Amino acid sequence: MIHSTNPYTGEKIYSFQPLTAEEVSEKIAHSNEVFKDWKQTTFQERAKLMMNAADVLEKRKKEYGKVISEEMGKPIGQSISEIEKCAWVCKFYAKNAANFLASEEIKTDAEESFVSYEPLGVLLAVMPWNFPFWQVFRFAAPGLMAGNAAVLKHASSVMQSANNIQKVFEEAGFPKGLFQNLVIGSDKVEAIIENEIIKAVTLTGSEPAGSSVAGLAAKKIKKAVLELGGNNAFIVLDDADLEKAVEVGVNARYQNTGQSCIAAKRLLLQEGIAEEYLEKYIDKVKQLKSGDPLVSDTYIGVLASEKLAKDLEKQVNESVKMGAKILVGGKRDKAYFEPTVITNISEEMPVFKEETFGPVIAVQTFKDLDEAIEISNNSKFGLGVSLFTEDIEMAKKVAPRFNEGAVFVNEMVKSDPRLPFGGVKSSGFGRELSSFGIKEFTNIKTVYIK
Ligand code: NAP
Repeated sequence: MIHSTNPYTGEKIYSFQPLTAEEVSEKIAHSNEVFKDWKQTTFQERAKLMMNAADVLEKRKKEYGKVISEEMGKPIGQSISEIEKCAWVCKFYAKNAANFLASEEIKTDAEESFVSYEPLGVLLAVMPWNFPFWQVFRFAAPGLMAGNAAVLKHASSVMQSANNIQKVFEEAGFPKGLFQNLVIGSDKVEAIIENEIIKAVTLTGSEPAGSSVAGLAAKKIKKAVLELGGNNAFIVLDDADLEKAVEVGVNARYQNTGQSCIAAKRLLLQEGIAEEYLEKYIDKVKQLKSGDPLVSDTYIGVLASEKLAKDLEKQVNESVKMGAKILVGGKRDKAYFEPTVITNISEEMPVFKEETFGPVIAVQTFKDLDEAIEISNNSKFGLGVSLFTEDIEMAKKVAPRFNEGAVFVNEMVKSDPRLPFGGVKSSGFGRELSSFGIKEFTNIKTVYIK
């Protein structure tokens, strides 16, 4: 059986009978049948349904938000905001897909030559629990608008949310079978990738899962997009607006109780402001309200499971043994981990070189920008970096020196339907969102007429 356990109460709240291999194959075959008609629909027809999906999300955000909070411990206000963001991405692609995927004429020696964007077929999405709705919608909204069908293998811990996502598409009026949640464990993923109907796979999750899934896809010559971990630096220069940098910096690390791939996991402070900044930062961290995820003013909930909290505790304890110093927090109680600030960091420590998936930040100081860039780039990950400075011209000039998928100046790294999202190095490959994301799962076809 697959279970959802409320990490705040420890109660088992939902149980699911996993599908058999035959049932999975039948569902995939059904998606393929539906795809044959769906790919013939116009963008206007698809857009109408995608706008309906946005309405359903708005209508049911409290109901489905509560399930998110219960299944993975996210504070309810943040769960509801997550669903609102999903409505945004649905509307965004409903409005823009036709334009993004319009045929493009290219002048050559032909009488006419152009590129057209065609759907691939049935896609497999393997998704994580940390933003149970958002991770799925940022793939599904462009994927379906491009004319594809999709099957979802969601994280085992959030299967009720996964079922609710399927319900959103059904209630919006999409053909039954176009988007299907598969209630399965990760042991079934290999056979799905091997199924000839599946044309491509996208995975958001950890490095080992990404490496395994992309490896299987490569064996079958199928495209993969990987959105993996991150270890973003949040850099504050001496000339930065400190109040703003503190406010954004705390949010960048602690929202979603620190369980975000793009969270600011390493705080890099220039020597001139380090002391003052840290004092203000710690003040704010101490004010963050921990508590029951279902209470509306809770900001820090629990981690998605006690095991995850124990993993984090181990990273912190090992770092402390190596000389790190806890300035605030550091303690665990079941799945709860206190908002934590750690200093005295060296490069060998887990809190520096590994991704910490919870409310813990590692603080370092630096002399000049060259040193900050060096520390920031000293990571196997490359998802994004935040740079706080009043010198915008200088920021633009140094942006290419960061080995990252995104550089945000005077803002936290965030995903936005209008901008491409993705990483380099061990953070993965391919892009989601914007015009880039919708083209990932299309056949970019050349047509040449003479
Ligand atoms: P995870 O353990 O890799 O799980 C992600 C998904 O992959 C789940 O559906 C999981 O299923 C499945 N899975 C795990 N191992 C697999 C395997 N060997 N073969 C096929 N499927 C497999 O990751 P997580 O712990 O849920 O999520 C946290 C990680 O995701 C962090 O590293 C975080 O940075 C990353 N993340 C990245 C982004 C991004 O956009 N770059 C966004 C969010 C999170 P089961 O649940 O059944 O194991």
